[in-house]
Amino acid sequence: MMTWVKKITDIAIQQKCPKCEKASMFKSFWSLETNEQCPHCGFKLAEHDSGDGPAVFLSFILGFSIVPLILVIAMKTDWPLWLHTIIWSPIILGLSIGLLKPSKAVTIALQYWNRSSDWEDKKEE
Ligand SMILES: [Zn+2]
Repeated sequence: MMTWVKKITDIAIQQKCPKCEKASMFKSFWSLETNEQCPHCGFKLAEHDSGDGPAVFLSFILGFSIVPLILVIAMKTDWPLWLHTIIWSPIILGLSIGLLKPSKAVTIALQYWNRSSDWEDKKEE
C-alpha cells in the first residue's frame, strides 16, 4: 500500500501525469508549462490550471522553515548583515526556483486526486 507521503514525494520528484503516472506532466525539463494533454493517456492536463497555488505553498513552506533558521543563526553568530545577505539570498532564490516545478506537480496531482470529478466533468463537455 502506497502512503500519501510516498505518493506526494514520487509525484514531486518524477513529475508524471497524475492519472497514468507514465509520461511527464511538463513540456520540457526546464519548462514550468504543463502539456496540453498527457502524451501517454491523453489526460487533459491544461484544463485545470494550478494558478498561484504552487508559489503560495512554496512561500509558506520555505518561509516557515528558513526564516527561523536564519534568525537562530543570526542570534548565535555576530555576522554582519551583508554576510547574511550574501549567504541566504542565493540559497532562498535557488530553493524557490528549484522547488517550483515539484510544487506545481504536487498541486496538480492533489487537485486530480481530491477532485477528480471536476476533471471528468470537463472531459464530457
Ligand atoms: Zn497520463
